[in-house]
Amino acid sequence: MTHMDKWSVADDLDLKMVIGGERIEASNGARIQTEDPATGRVIGSFPAATADDVGRAVENSRAALKGDWRSMTPTARGRVLARAAAILRREAERMARVETLDSGKPLREAKGDIETSASYFEYYAGMADKLQGDSIPLGPDYMSFTLHEPVGVTAHIIPWNFPLTTTARGVAPALAAGCTAVVKPAALTSLTSILMADILEEAGLPAGVYNVVPGHGREAGSALVAHPDIAHVTFTGSVATGIGIMQSAATHVASVTLELGGKSPLVVLADADLDAAVEGTLKAIYMNAGQVCSAGSRLVVERKVHAAMMERLVPRVEAMMPGHGLDDAAIGPLVSAAQVGLVAGFVDDARKANSLNVVAGGRRLSPAGMEKGHFYAPTIIDDAPMDARVVQEEIFGPVLTVQIVDSPEEAIAVANGTEFGLCAGIYTRDISRAMAFARDVDAGQVFINQYFAGGVPTPFGGTKMSGFGREKGLAALASYYRVKCITTRL
Ligand code: NAD
Repeated sequence: MTHMDKWSVADDLDLKMVIGGERIEASNGARIQTEDPATGRVIGSFPAATADDVGRAVENSRAALKGDWRSMTPTARGRVLARAAAILRREAERMARVETLDSGKPLREAKGDIETSASYFEYYAGMADKLQGDSIPLGPDYMSFTLHEPVGVTAHIIPWNFPLTTTARGVAPALAAGCTAVVKPAALTSLTSILMADILEEAGLPAGVYNVVPGHGREAGSALVAHPDIAHVTFTGSVATGIGIMQSAATHVASVTLELGGKSPLVVLADADLDAAVEGTLKAIYMNAGQVCSAGSRLVVERKVHAAMMERLVPRVEAMMPGHGLDDAAIGPLVSAAQVGLVAGFVDDARKANSLNVVAGGRRLSPAGMEKGHFYAPTIIDDAPMDARVVQEEIFGPVLTVQIVDSPEEAIAVANGTEFGLCAGIYTRDISRAMAFARDVDAGQVFINQYFAGGVPTPFGGTKMSGFGREKGLAALASYYRVKCITTRL
């Protein structure tokens, strides 16, 4: 078997867009090719939706709101989502291989992503018939109650780092609430959200409820957000794009959920279990080669245990062998050559502008047989000052920045010292210190003694420049229904 045979999937990955249950080409015939980031080889293609195509998708989605979807009972709607979860699990191996080939992530991570995506459908399936309102006591002369109505057609703008999980994270609660969805995946990684349409169709989802308009952000994405019939936009991506989306949605008063970037601290106090802290740090920053908005990208460590942490961490990081995601390498490629360029630029800047100490990695890689791949070595930059770019700005790559502090109080100040506030972690055996940190840190999610603790049921979202609105858990549903209050005089 040649490498090229080994690093492929059986599926035909020349896909079409999905509008109103039809599989169609773009109105101008344009297509986008997608490559395997480990080899640079083209693995598939899909249409580049035009503004006209997006308009058609929104129209279909609007019509679907009033059709079979509306007449289904909420329990039946929930059953469709539960069936989608089961079918996705049946297709897990195939979907995970496609996700790995398209995004570069190691196969075990892609399998985790597919399972998480199935879990979103399963979790929200159970909520479809539990979105009940209140009765309001106004005295004997009135009856007053609330209904939870679907907001309408929802837009989902997806980034390239978690293609299917981000799609499922927004679409599953939207469908549970009775909304319809138009999904705009990232141009680099559109395959699995398109393939998800087949799974939802097999599960019994009526045509037009889930539409996929792949394409470029500036054309398909901006046309979708600007469409006057979009009631809510769920966006995950960069801060700059998120600000533009909020401005565009404001012109027709659509609500938005913004999941933007992060520079999340992982604090290790002197009393921590250092072995657990090392395992937690490795996962926090090197999962998906660091291309994770909630990555623990700043290790904030008490001086007393700094040397002990570095002694354990550095050899582990240097031993991480990069390779092809389908070989389940310790670390895969970054998503694109451009992303490698950005990451390399940050590390070079840390060396030149700040004379910082790069104690592991800090270079591009080209593993054998993957010379055209987009690899960057897992990297640690030690003892960085608060004002360094690598401390303040999101790198979105496998780069851990270490900050040394002299007390738990200083750790909180340093943890809060960026414009972001997505996640924060702490390792300590002192429950009071952990809780004081949880109280005082600016973050939407706090992890104690296990970075990334939680999952589908735990609400997720940011503060400050990391955005607002919550996804996951019951909190996510609030974006997808509106409360109507009905009051009658008796
Ligand atoms: P991006 O903002 O460039 O693109 C995200 C999506 O928006 C893509 O689908 C893109 O095509 C689309 N888009 C771009 N311009 C648009 C426009 N003008 N109108 C409408 N849509 C447009 O981000 P990216 O490079 O794909 O993803 C990386 C970024 O996403 C990082 O900054 C990361 O922190 C962030 N991110 C955040 C979370 C989170 O949950 N908070 C999760 C993953 C990624």
